[in-house]
Amino acid sequence: MAERYRIVQEGGHYRVIDHRGQPKSGLVNIKALAEIKVDELTRKDAQKTRVCLAHGCTATFESEGPHHRMCNRHRAMVDDCGIHQSTGRRVRFRSS
Ligand SMILES: [Zn+2]
Repeated sequence: MAERYRIVQEGGHYRVIDHRGQPKSGLVNIKALAEIKVDELTRKDAQKTRVCLAHGCTATFESEGPHHRMCNRHRAMVDDCGIHQSTGRRVRFRSS
């Protein structure tokens, strides 16, 4: 995975910058604190807001990963095979 964030040293202190060189943290005096900040920022980037893929649903949610494609309501209703638990029908997905 490409490193989006880097730690730079400024006069004995450390700062996290992004790939454009924009500062993403204040100056800290311990490198480990800057490394924790890099972890936080990287994790936050991975949690993108997505639109539910179930047909006709416009709910948005914070995706927890590549297998998380539906809102909480649809995830509770639809099993792993895409079968709606109360109708027994396969749920249609938008192609994307
Ligand atoms: Zn939904």
